[in-house]
Amino acid sequence: MSNTLILVVEDDFSVRNLMKTTLKANGYRFLISETGKTAVMETASHKPDIMLLDLGLPDMDGVEVIKEIRTWSNMPIIVISARSEDRDKITALDAGADDYLTKPFSVDELLARLRTTERRLEFMINSRSEPRVFVNGDLTIDYPAGCVYLKGAELHLTPIEYKLLCLFSKNVGKVLTHTYITQQIWGRTLDSDIASLRVYMATLRKKIETANDANAYIQTHIGIGYRMFKVDPK
Ligand code: CA
Repeated sequence: MSNTLILVVEDDFSVRNLMKTTLKANGYRFLISETGKTAVMETASHKPDIMLLDLGLPDMDGVEVIKEIRTWSNMPIIVISARSEDRDKITALDAGADDYLTKPFSVDELLARLRTTERRLEFMINSRSEPRVFVNGDLTIDYPAGCVYLKGAELHLTPIEYKLLCLFSKNVGKVLTHTYITQQIWGRTLDSDIASLRVYMATLRKKIETANDANAYIQTHIGIGYRMFKVDPK
């Protein structure tokens, strides 16, 4: 059951019915607009996740709807139109449409486009809420690049050290237990894993904490685990 809310903008009765039936059968929530004006209003008041937009509407051109909505919203818009000329497709994409489907379309094709768009939406939401770069005192982690810097100089960490550091950075301020850490890194907790963890933590700390550095990033909780401090910005 999808939680995605779809706004269908279509003036043609039979196409509208096909879409309604398809969306309903596949568990989508949806709203219907028959004109461009109501489509803009529905978008503003209900904030749908995805718009399926017919280009030939009775009151205005679908491209105008895209232009209007793009001034204040990034919602994915999939254009569905009988016009098969490339010119219309390009105009719609230039105006800010995300995808294009030509009538007559198959139900499977429509559903496939929706799934792709939903995956993209999910990715957009995840990358918005997860920062790409972590900064703590002199320590910087560039997650997409998989690089760690200390005072601007790149550190050479082993894959396990890097995984450990990312785990701490994503839980900064929290004490992570030995069990939790070994589960996250090795997917199990054997006595030997806890012993290895100690070794990896020692080498990781040597790399990120220099002897005369006031920035001690990781605190040991004996018999419990470790915690990364949030270092005050200087
Ligand atoms: Ca139409």
